[in-house]
Amino acid sequence: MTKRCDIIINGAGMVGGVTALLLAEQGFAVTLIESQQQTKYSGKDSRQLRVSAISKHNLELFERLGLTEHWQTSRMGYYDQMSVWDNHSTGEIKFNSGGSGVLGAMIENNQIIAAAQQLANAHNNIDVLYETSIADFEDVERKVCVDLDSTSKEKLNTHLLIGADGARSQIRNYLGIEIQQKPYKQHGLVCYLKVENAPAKIALQAFNSGGPVGLLPMNDGLFSMVWSLPEDQVEHWLNAEENYFINGLKVHINRDFGGIELCSERQAFPLHKTYAKAFYQGRVALVGDAAHTIHPLAGQGVNLGFADAECLVDKLNSVSLKNNDELANALKKYQRVRMAEVHKTAETMHALHHLFSNEAAPVKMLRAFGMNRLNQINPIKQWLLRQAGS
Ligand SMILES: Cc1cc2nc3c(=O)[nH]c(=O)nc-3n(C[C@H](O)[C@H](O)[C@H](O)COP(=O)(O)OP(=O)(O)OC[C@H]3O[C@@H](n4cnc5c(N)ncnc54)[C@H](O)[C@@H]3O)c2cc1C
Repeated sequence: MTKRCDIIINGAGMVGGVTALLLAEQGFAVTLIESQQQTKYSGKDSRQLRVSAISKHNLELFERLGLTEHWQTSRMGYYDQMSVWDNHSTGEIKFNSGGSGVLGAMIENNQIIAAAQQLANAHNNIDVLYETSIADFEDVERKVCVDLDSTSKEKLNTHLLIGADGARSQIRNYLGIEIQQKPYKQHGLVCYLKVENAPAKIALQAFNSGGPVGLLPMNDGLFSMVWSLPEDQVEHWLNAEENYFINGLKVHINRDFGGIELCSERQAFPLHKTYAKAFYQGRVALVGDAAHTIHPLAGQGVNLGFADAECLVDKLNSVSLKNNDELANALKKYQRVRMAEVHKTAETMHALHHLFSNEAAPVKMLRAFGMNRLNQINPIKQWLLRQAGS
C-alpha cells in the first residue's frame, strides 16, 4: 500500500524542520527531504559559528513543539535587555523586557536543526529522507508528482510541495520564480569573543558608518559577534593578526568593556536583501530564506521564516488540500500576509542600514537627537520591542 503523503517539504534546516513539526501537529502526513546527512549536535563539540538570536515568541513555540527537551541550555545565552548606540554621535537606545522575562536567546543554528530533526524522526506523521534530493517534479491537476534523485529512484505524489531549501532554493529556481535582490556589498564577519566587562544578559549593538557590530551574549562570558563590514574590508579583518583585529574591533565598539579575547576562527558571509517575487506558484509554496533574506542587524531572518511556517500552517488548516480552489485561496492569503510583513521588516532594516551609514553632519545630529528622544518614549520603545519579539 502506498504511504499517505499530504505535503512534501524540501529542506530540513531550521525553517523546514519547524514547518514539518507544525504541520504534523495538525495531522498532516509530511515527507521531509534533506540533501545532507542528519545533523547531530553535542554540547561537547566545538561551538558552531552560525548562531541566531531567537525571539521570545519563537522560544515559546520551540517549547510547545518539544525542541527544548533536546536543548543543551548550558550553550545558550538568554538576554533581557538590548543596548544600541551610534558611534558617530551621542545617540543611544536601551530596551528591557520590563520585568516580563527574557527578550530572546542566542542559540547555535545546529542545535535547533538537530533538535527539530530528532523530533521529526520520531514523529508518526513525518517521514524524513536524508541525503536525498528531488530530481524533478510536476504540478498536475490535483497533485504534485515528485521524482526523487536517490538510489531507489522513488516517485512520490503529494498535494503540496514546500520549498524550505534556503537562499539558493532549488524549488524556487526550478519553478522560475524570479527574485528581487539587493546586495548590501557587506559581509557579516562572525566569531566568538570573551569580553571582560561586558554585561552578561544584554544584546549590544554599535552602529558604524561601515556597518554595525553586534555582541550577543552566550554563556560563561562568551559573546557571539557579527561585524557587518564593507566588501573591500572583509579579507583584511578576516586575516588580520589577532591583536590588530581586537584593537580594530574596540574602535568600532567604542565602549570600554575591558579586555577582549578572540576565542574562535573568523568566518564571513555575504549579506543580501532578497525577495522572491511570488511566495507560491500552483501547488508549491516557499518559506524561510527560500522566500526572503534580510540584513542580520536586528537578528530577524530566521524568525521571519518561523513566522512564515506558522502562517502557512494556519491558512492550510481549514482547507481540503485536494480542492484546487481552496488550496489556491489559502496560498494566496499566505502570500499576502507574509509578503507584507517581510517587506515591512526588510525595508526597516534597509532604512536603518542607510541611516547609520550616512556620515553627513546633519544626519548624525538628527540620529543622535532621534535615538535619545526615542529612548525617553516608553510606548514607542514597547512597540519596537513587540516588532522585534514577534
Ligand atoms: C551572519 C548572519 C547572522 C544571522 N543572524 C541571525 C539572527 O541572529 N537571527 C535570525 O533570526 N536570523 C539570523 N540570520 C539569518 C538566518 O541564518 C537564516 O534566515 C536561516 O539560516 C534560514 O534558515 P532556512 O531553514 O530558511 O534555510 P537554510 O538554513 O539555508 O536551510 C536550508 C536547508 O535545506 C537543505 N537544502 C538545500 N538545498 C537542498 C536541496 N536541493 N534538496 C534538499 N535539501 C536542500 C540544506 O541542506 C538545509 O538543511 C543570520 C544570517 C547571517 C548571514
